[in-house]
This record gives sequence, C-alpha cells and structure tokens, in this order.
Amino acid sequence: MSEKYVYLFSEVDQAEKHVGGAWDDVRSLLGGKGANLGDMTRLGVPVPPGFTVTTEACNAYLEAGGEFPGDSWKQELEAIAAMEQATGKKFGDPSNPLLVSCRSGAKFSMPGMMDTILNIGLNDEVVEGMVRLTGDARFVYDSYRRLVQMFGSVVLEVPDEVFETVITAQRDKAGVRVDSELSADDWRIVTRKFKELVSSFTGQSFPTDPFEQLELSTRAVFGSWNGKRAVDYRNAAGIAHDLGTAVNIQAMVFGNTGPESGTGVAMSRNASTGSPEIEGDFLINAQGEDVVAGIRKTQPISDLEQLMPDVYKEFEQIARKLETHFRNMQDMEFTIERGKLWILQTRDGKRTAQAEVRIAADMVDEGLITKDEAVKRVKPAQVDFFLHPQLEQAARESSKPIAKGLNVSPGAAVGVVAFDADTAERWAKDGQRDVIMVRPETKPDDVHGMLAAMGILTLRGGRTSHAALVARQFGKPAVVGAEDFELDLDKRELRVEDLVIKEGEWLSIDGTNGLVYSGQLPTVVPDLQNVNLLKILGWADEFRRLDVRANADYPRDAERAREYGAQGIGLCRTEHMFFETDRLPIVQRMILAKSVTERTEAIAELLPLQRGDFEGLLRAMAGQPVIIRLLDPPLHEFLPAYDELIQDLADLKVRLQHFQTMSEIDDALEQIRVKQGFLERVSALREANPMLGSRGVRLGILIPELTRMQVRAVFEAACKCVREGVDARPEVMIPLTAHVRELQVQRAALEAEARAVMAEQNVEVHYKFGTMIEIPRAALTADEMASCAEFFSFGTNDLTQTTFGISRDDAEAGFLMHYIRNDILTDNPFETIDPDGVGQLIHLAVEKGRRVRPDIEIGVCGEHGGDPKSIALCHQLGLSYVSCSPFRVPIARLAAAHAALDAAS
Ligand code: ADP
Ligand code: MG
Ligand code: MG
Repeated sequence: MSEKYVYLFSEVDQAEKHVGGAWDDVRSLLGGKGANLGDMTRLGVPVPPGFTVTTEACNAYLEAGGEFPGDSWKQELEAIAAMEQATGKKFGDPSNPLLVSCRSGAKFSMPGMMDTILNIGLNDEVVEGMVRLTGDARFVYDSYRRLVQMFGSVVLEVPDEVFETVITAQRDKAGVRVDSELSADDWRIVTRKFKELVSSFTGQSFPTDPFEQLELSTRAVFGSWNGKRAVDYRNAAGIAHDLGTAVNIQAMVFGNTGPESGTGVAMSRNASTGSPEIEGDFLINAQGEDVVAGIRKTQPISDLEQLMPDVYKEFEQIARKLETHFRNMQDMEFTIERGKLWILQTRDGKRTAQAEVRIAADMVDEGLITKDEAVKRVKPAQVDFFLHPQLEQAARESSKPIAKGLNVSPGAAVGVVAFDADTAERWAKDGQRDVIMVRPETKPDDVHGMLAAMGILTLRGGRTSHAALVARQFGKPAVVGAEDFELDLDKRELRVEDLVIKEGEWLSIDGTNGLVYSGQLPTVVPDLQNVNLLKILGWADEFRRLDVRANADYPRDAERAREYGAQGIGLCRTEHMFFETDRLPIVQRMILAKSVTERTEAIAELLPLQRGDFEGLLRAMAGQPVIIRLLDPPLHEFLPAYDELIQDLADLKVRLQHFQTMSEIDDALEQIRVKQGFLERVSALREANPMLGSRGVRLGILIPELTRMQVRAVFEAACKCVREGVDARPEVMIPLTAHVRELQVQRAALEAEARAVMAEQNVEVHYKFGTMIEIPRAALTADEMASCAEFFSFGTNDLTQTTFGISRDDAEAGFLMHYIRNDILTDNPFETIDPDGVGQLIHLAVEKGRRVRPDIEIGVCGEHGGDPKSIALCHQLGLSYVSCSPFRVPIARLAAAHAALDAAS
C-alpha cells in the first residue's frame, strides 16, 4: 500500500494513529491549521468539509525537485470526490459547482507562507451556472475577480498593485468611492481585465480548468516553504527548515451573499485584559480577509448578538467548547452563510502579559487547567512587564521616536534631561522633578544620579555597560548606546539631526524597545499587586525548590525585595555605601592617611554610618538571612582617576598664572595641594591589573582595621536589633578568596571582633561566616574552604572572568560580541552561566563543599541569579538559592518554578 499523503478533516483519528497518538506530532504532520480543522470536525463543530495534504508530502515534493510523491495527486482527487459527496456539489460543474479554498499551514504559524486563495473552481462556464443558481451576478463576479486576483498574485506572481490599479480605475469610471458600490457589470469588466493582465504578465492565459487551478495552488504552497520570506522568518524565529508545510483544501462558504451573511474573527476572551468575554469584529456581507484588510469599518462582535441572536448564541457555545477542548484562549475565524455559522480556523490566541496571567489564573479557578500548567504558561518576560511603567499605547503609536538605542532595562521613563549625576540628583531631590539622566556613558561615581533619575540614556556602551548593569539592578528604565545623539556639555544641549534638546527639557525613553521620544509622553503603571499575578507567583512558590534572595544594599531595596517575595539578602555590597556623597570624603581620608592613627580615626568615623546601614537591612529582613559582603573593590576606585588628576593639575597650574587676588591664588594652591595628595596616593595604589590586584580578602588582610570595623558595625547593629526583639540574622561574607589560609586568617580576625561585640553587648546573635567562590582555585579546593565557611556564594561574574581568563569590560567592548555573532559562543557567559566550564566548577564545589559540611548553604549572587536559563542550571546543580536584584525577584520565583517543573517532567 502506498503512503497516505492526504487526510480528510474527518480522518484526524487516522492521522493520530499514524503518528502514534501525540497531538504535537499530528500538528507536525497536518500543520497547525489542518490539525485543528480536523480536531474541530471530530468535536462536531461546523467546519466546511475539506482535506489536508501532509507536510510529509511537501518535504517529499521539495526533495524530488517538484514532483508529487507517490500517488499523492490521485489521493487529492479522491479527497475532492469525498468532498463532492459530503456537499452534494461537484467541482467544475456549472449546474452545481463546488468551490474550494487553498490554505497553507505549517506546524507553527508563520508569516511568509503562501497567502490563501479563495474560490478555486470558478471559470467562465461555472460563473454562468452560479449566476443562474444564485441569481446574484454581482456576488458571483466579485468572487470570480477575487480568484483571478489571488491566484494571479500568489501563484502566478503578478504584482498585486496592478490589480488594484484596475479596481481604482473602475471605481473612478463608475463614479463610486468604495468597492461595495461596484455593480455586477463593473466586476465583470474588472475580471476580464484581470485575466488580460495575467496573460500579458505570464504569457499564458488564466487556467480555466478547476483541477489545474487546484494542482498549481498545491504546488505553490509547497514551493512557498522555500520562498525567501519564509526562510528569513524561520531563521529569525529559530524554526527548523525541515518541517515543511501542509496544504488545506476546503469547501468554500460565502459570507458575501447578502445581509444574512458575514465573516469575522473573534477571541474567546479579551486579549488585552484577559476578562472572560468574547471579543472580536465582523462584517456583514463580506468574504474572507475583508475583516483584517481594514477596507470597511468592522462591527464589534457584541452587535452580532443583536443582529443574529441565534448565531451569536451558537458561536458562544462553540467558543466555550473549543476553549474546554484546547484548554486555552482561542482565536477563531468564522463565516455566516445565509444564517448558517461555519468555523474556519481556531488557534491559541496571542495576548498581552496582563491577559496571560489573568487567563491562566482564571482557567485554574474554572478547573480547566492545573496550577502547574498555569505557572508554566506565564513566561518570565511577562512578569517583567508588571514591574515597570510603560508608555501609553496610543501615545506610543502617534509619536515618532527621535532616536533608537539598545533596550537594556525595560519600562518607560519620562523626565527633564540632566547632563550629569549631580544635577540629576539635585533636580530630583530638591526640585522634586522627574529627571532623565543623559551621559555619554556612566561610571561608578554617577550612581547617585542614576538612582535619583527616573531613567537613564547614554550615547555609548553596550548591553552590559555600567549604565545597563546598574539600571537593571535598580529597575531603572534605560536606553544605552543611542549613537545618533550628540551631547554638547558646554552648551548643555542634546542634539539629534535638527532637533535640539536643552538641559531641563522633557524627554521620554522606552527601555523596553530602546526608543527615545522628545517631550513628555503619558505612561501607565502595570501593577505588581495584580491579584492574578500574585496568584501565579504564589503557585510558583509551591513548586520551586530554590529559594530566592535579593541583592540589596539599602533598607528601602530590602523592603521592596521582601514585598516581591525575597527570602533574605544574598548580597549586600558595602562599597555602594562608601560612595555616598557624605561618606566619600571620609573614605578618601582613610585611604590617604599617612599614619595608622589617622587611618583609624577615619575608619572610626565610618563605623556609626555603616552600623546604621546594616541595622536598616537587618530590620527589613527580620527572620531572614542577610549576607553582607566585606569591602571588595580596589581602593583606587574611591579616588579620582589618575589621568583626570594629571589633567586637572596641569589646568590649575596654568590658571594660577592668571589669578589676580591673593584669595584666588590661595584657593588654587590649596586645590593643587589636595590633588597632589590624591595623585601621590593614586600613583602608589595604581596596579597594572586592578581586577587581579589588591582587592577582596587581600585588602582585608592588608588593612584588617577596615574589615574589622565593618564586622563590628554588623554585630553592633545585630545586637541592637536582637535586644529590641528583631530576629536579625547576619551572615558575613569574605570576598575573592583563593586559598583556605586567606579565609582562616581573615575569619579568625573577624570572628574575634564579632565575639567581642556580642560579649560587650551581652547579646547572642544568630550568625554565619562564609565566603564567595569566584576564583577557580577556591572551587577546586571547596572541601578545604568548607571547613572554614558555613556558606558559599558563587560570584558568577568574577568566576566567569577568572575561568575564561577574560575581563568582562574588555570582552564586552571587544571580542565577545564577535564571538557571539560568529557562533563561537552561543550565549554571553556574563548573562547566562556557561554550563560546561563555570557550571562544572560550581558542580565540583557543591559536591566537595557538601562532603565536608553537609548542611552548607550554597547560592549564586550577581546578575546570573535573575537569568531564567542560569536559574535552571542552579536548580540542576542543587544550589540552595539564587540571589538577584529586587526587581527580578518575582521573575526568579517563576523561573525557579519552571526549572523544578521541567526537571520533574
Ligand atoms: P491566514 O493564515 O492568512 O489567516 P486563512 O487560510 O486563515 O489565512 O484564510 C484567509 C481568509 O480566508 C480568512 O478570513 C479565512 O476565514 C478565509 N477562508 C479560508 N478558507 C475559506 C473557506 N473555505 N470559505 C470561506 N472563507 C475562507
Ligand atoms: Mg495568510
Ligand atoms: Mg486565518
């Protein structure tokens, strides 16, 4: 027996049997459209009869260089005969003609596949017969010209515009404005001209044999699989090229046969809000694509309830039936022919993030899907949507962006532009204004301005530039690398083409897509307190095994993190506090100190400030662990840059010669003295490779007073909390260890200080000491490390740098993007943990660490902790938690649930 290439819609059971039962495989065989047409037929939904030529036939056809495989053409003819039987009509018979449509349909819905051809089976004789039959010449000739037009443009590749020109000319001649006012005669003339066009463009006359029309259409659908549009789309969307497309041939039903007929598209629920009411549009007396084409104004589906109550009721029932069957919101095409309802297509409907979460939550309540299905349906990116304000859709659509950059941190921000961090902070804090901070690029000492601003725009930098990282961490919308702009810091203006935006004028940025608009666009704030989202996240918590903590340096971030569901702080970076404007001078004094006494004094001044910081954090996270990382960066980061100092000093010396008054000169001399002091220290601290220099635990060992002070501050704060009944759980984290001896020495010094504080205060605090694992040697010797650490936290950013032997900044500014574009690496290892290298080290360290200390707490902190793919890896590696920025906590909760559910299935 030869292979079966053609399945009637009523033969979906056979297709299912052929592939072994799985619905996904039926979709591969029949395409999404064909599979669902068959499924609807089986359910008893009114679907015009028809058949599907399989994707296997398509693949075999293409492989054979355009030969129909086996007896597939014969099977198609038999299927036509079956349709004739079912409809009581005959293909090509003028006295009772069967007309069909030819519709492409791959497994995944794909723009770029062949457009549908309606009314196949018409020719001059059949048209005459149909006119006699229907008594409606206008309808028949309108249908005929549509066939010639669609067939001509789609199959014979005559440019569509030439057809439109003919119609326009005919409208002018007839003196009417819209197509629907053209008469039967007009359409007859148009059809004749269309056929002439086809002949002159192709050198052949329009095929009048219905079977030839059918054959050419089938071939065209198969061929369109390898059309340029389709190939490009598959490349972009990551769809395999060997799936092939199916062809669906279906009996025509007519929505254009008068006021009792119509056609439309509807969703079973509202696609914007998710509310459970049918939403859609229809047209009375229209065919096929008229609804989407937008040539006539459509009516809302609710009008159908008035016009044809019975049809509407039936449609409602079908919608519910299809939802129950497919267990998802459906997007349906329907046609009404003289009062009789037909369903022509159904598929899962596209929807907004809000609609997704509402529908998922509602469907669980309705008993349609289970909680784990609901959790799986919502994608991490959809949760992201709820966390950031968005530009109002209408405003977005009606405004033209003035520039485009990289969309590095989602959400919209609207504010007046400020061109440096101090101005941004001043305007935001004192002036209570919404500010967009605009910079060529940002540096660590710009952070206060970025925090104060609503959003950040930079002219340079990439996806992982400083601006992008900080923006994401703090949930600030940001567009970076908007190279079209020119920033004139002397004139204080931002320019793009002819447009000049002065400092203080309004700008709107959309970090979701990287677009920049001039002026003040209105925004809307989606709501993280959205009840449906909370439901979904609550269910996610039931499924996940990983805890989720937050990286937070300030009490307000800790509070927000907790609101978002964080179960502790995985990383508090104490250096951020050192950068605060009131503290930086003290920190600098400490670094510049010439004597130990001077240094101790400065450190002592920092103590109460740090204590205050930690107390706030411990309170905000009462009952939950708070990991505080001791000072990590090299000290020169707290001083002005070397080059800048050299430049400033040179400038000052030149200006000195022009000063008149004594006070001016004194002033300048004083500045020179200060800068000279900085310069000496900066020179002394200068390292060829600061990333690999005196930082982390090395710094703590060299200046133990400093880390001791930090530990004292932590424990004084903790004791105070405990005394006041707050369950403070500090965990002290020693950064960048490579050797267990470093850890032993530093821990001994620090734990002694902790004990001393607790003794002084006569309070016992629940605490831990642990280390970051961010150097391969630490991972390789994790058993030794574990003997001296109650917890590990993988600093996957540094661990990636040290494992690859690359610096992130240099890599991302240089070769890394080249690597990714050229497929040397598939993912940026700074965005997604490299599973084979860095992942292996983590795996090893987990195993060795747990062998020595079975209850050791192990997590990941840093940006990877908020990346869904990395979260899945952390789940597989058996970590205890991931830690990420507060804004990503809800996303991480969901991703952790996905990881657990995927691993279970
Ligand atoms: P698309 O993938 O572009 O939606 P479709 O094959 O679904 O293409 O069809 C385009 C239009 O033609 C739709 O409005 C559809 O409902 C209509 N259509 C397709 N087949 C028929 C048919 N047999 N009878 C009536 N209308 C049809
Ligand atoms: Mg189409
Ligand atoms: Mg369709």
